[in-house]
Amino acid sequence: MTVAPGRSLGVLTSGGDASGMNAAVRAVVRTALDRGVPVHAILEGYQGMVAGGDLIRPMTWNDVGGILQRGGTVIGTARCDAFRTRPGRLRAARHLVERGIDTLVVIGGDGSLTGADTLRGEWSSLLEDLVNAGEISREVASAYERLTLVGLVGSIDNDMQGTDITIGALTALHRITEAIDALLSTAASHQRTFVVEVMGRHCGYLALMSALATGADWALIPESPPDVQDWEETMCARLEAGRAAGRRASIVVVAEGAVDRDGRPISTAHVKRTLEERLGEDVRETILGHVQRGGRPCAYDRVMGAVVGHAAVDIALSEDAWGEARLVGIREGRVVDGALVEAVAETRRVGKALEACDFETALALRGEFFQESWRTLRTLVRALPHPPVPGRRRLRLGVLNAGAPAPGMNTAVRAAVRLGLDRGHEMLGVRGGVSGLLEGRLVQLDWMSVNGWAGRGGSELGTDRVVPDAEGVSRIAGVIEEAALDGLLVVGGGEGYETAHALLASERVSVPVVCLPASIANDLPGSERSVGGDTALNMVMHAVDAIKQSAVATRRAFVVEVMGGTCGWLALTSGIATGAERVYLHEEGVTLDDLRQDVAHLVAGFEQGKRLGLVIRNERAHEIYDTDFTVALFEEEGGDLFDVRKSILGHLQQGGDPSPFDRILATRLAARCIQWLDAQGLSGGGGGAYVGVQWGEIRMHDLADLPEVWDPEHRRPADPWWLALRPVASLLAQPGPGAGRP
Ligand code: ADP
Repeated sequence: MTVAPGRSLGVLTSGGDASGMNAAVRAVVRTALDRGVPVHAILEGYQGMVAGGDLIRPMTWNDVGGILQRGGTVIGTARCDAFRTRPGRLRAARHLVERGIDTLVVIGGDGSLTGADTLRGEWSSLLEDLVNAGEISREVASAYERLTLVGLVGSIDNDMQGTDITIGALTALHRITEAIDALLSTAASHQRTFVVEVMGRHCGYLALMSALATGADWALIPESPPDVQDWEETMCARLEAGRAAGRRASIVVVAEGAVDRDGRPISTAHVKRTLEERLGEDVRETILGHVQRGGRPCAYDRVMGAVVGHAAVDIALSEDAWGEARLVGIREGRVVDGALVEAVAETRRVGKALEACDFETALALRGEFFQESWRTLRTLVRALPHPPVPGRRRLRLGVLNAGAPAPGMNTAVRAAVRLGLDRGHEMLGVRGGVSGLLEGRLVQLDWMSVNGWAGRGGSELGTDRVVPDAEGVSRIAGVIEEAALDGLLVVGGGEGYETAHALLASERVSVPVVCLPASIANDLPGSERSVGGDTALNMVMHAVDAIKQSAVATRRAFVVEVMGGTCGWLALTSGIATGAERVYLHEEGVTLDDLRQDVAHLVAGFEQGKRLGLVIRNERAHEIYDTDFTVALFEEEGGDLFDVRKSILGHLQQGGDPSPFDRILATRLAARCIQWLDAQGLSGGGGGAYVGVQWGEIRMHDLADLPEVWDPEHRRPADPWWLALRPVASLLAQPGPGAGRP
């Protein structure tokens, strides 16, 4: 990639701020510098572009250090009316040309991206005007004949087409989930109902996902208004039935833009009044407001910001972006780039459909994930299951937790139990993991026995890391026979998969068995994500944020050891999320030369005034060059220049309430597993399967293939696909442009 000397790339954040924008800005700045392209930050969005002067600043590698963990955007954002006018954009164009900026990465919502595309479309005529006004020469105008534009979507509402998720939406979901969890405990103490308003004027994503993640009892979203005229009656009946069934707290989530079938807004005040009048209950209203925007970005937003920011620069510097503006986003779990104007037009189509009360189109445009989540929520909010369909066989389905505990196991069990009951089946929980199964410790689970499990960490059923031997397998076969089970769901890690595979191989077990990946290490085959991985990643990230703060006063290097067995996903992604300068992984090994080079980097860095060093080690990265060895080596070589401390994060990584991402994942995967067990059980088919999410889609895989996709020696997937993140991690972590990849 060659860039004419003097050419520069400009980056700005515009419109509503969103957490994770800083991660994107950091990645844009560092990737551009790494590619040899100077970068300017345009402060305060288009205001800075129109005003020029000090608001357009050259950026260095270190200018974007230490910003990953900060909420909002450190380069400022604003709304700017002047930019909506041609004279405003003319001034903006002059300021860009002055700095040699002919490439823009704009991080904002559809308004900001539309504005940028307008500037891009007018570019040559604006430069012509500047030539005619004598402000720039014709040579300069012809040297800057094209403005290249790449957009990234920063928006907490997740209201933009062209990407499955926007920067900031997951962090907002964290804030909402924390708030509703807190409300739930006070509501349960007083047997109260809370009506909670969340952001989303034109998009129900936050309302829907937060309702799903917290186990809320009712949700109102713009895309799918209640389909009966007197919807208030239905809502009240459901909440009343929930109370009668033993629920102590009720939560109704209302999207800011919720409407009824005629497009009339539904306010929280109306919902509150209705519930008070019809149920005679104590109802409280909470409008979450701007807290949803703020706070530390969650791990997902930091990693995504890094990945899309990095990709945006490479796309901007390639010829692909010459013809039209590009939008870089995440689709089906992968980085994608598409035509920006198409994404904006599609976003507008949703808006128009909503305005015209064409809810079917609006919901369809939101995509399959949104629709499937909405269907699942509608089943889960039922106070009690549907009455059994006469003539339909009632299956007895067992649910087991196996392997190490992972946050979100309870969420998966809750969803599986309720969705199974809803299909008319009997649900039996196994107490105490595989050991419990060996002893036949089965308990009947009803709708209310899993109440409140959506957000509870750990494993209520109990779990262990036992894998049965041949004798154990035949004992389990006996238990399955005796309990007359028609199917088994194993929610767990590698031990769960191995147990299920052993049962499948046994001739005595003929019932279907399905595995749902739950492991903080994210080390299971057939799935890009395991339930619990995101929570553990956030736990590691928060701990490292705190460790970094503790080190600021002294010159100190930290060696942080994270879990994962020999699977490096957790270490690598936490390295990206925290800005660690080096991550050691078992998959790549560690050599003495690596350590020597890393110590030299640390020494050089501290000599140049650096105050903090951060190295993350997977717990089994290397048997000999372990954490103690690394610490001792750094300590010795660091001499008086810096101290070295080790931090072994340990079991805090397995605990904690599941993150919203893990709760939603657990619920979706459980829904698919129950669907599969239902189909297999009713058709009398046996067999084994494991479920996973790949390229954003939920897929079932044949459990018989496990030996091909699972590396039993290292207990991780045979294909270490997460290493695809390595280049981004290394580039962003190096001490300066082209300084050598750690
Ligand atoms: P968001 O980017 O979050 O959708 P806005 O719609 O408020 O936020 O847009 C942010 C800024 O982008 C506006 O203040 C304006 O400067 C610019 N902008 C928005 N729409 C346009 C447009 N159609 N033409 C030119 N500039 C626009």
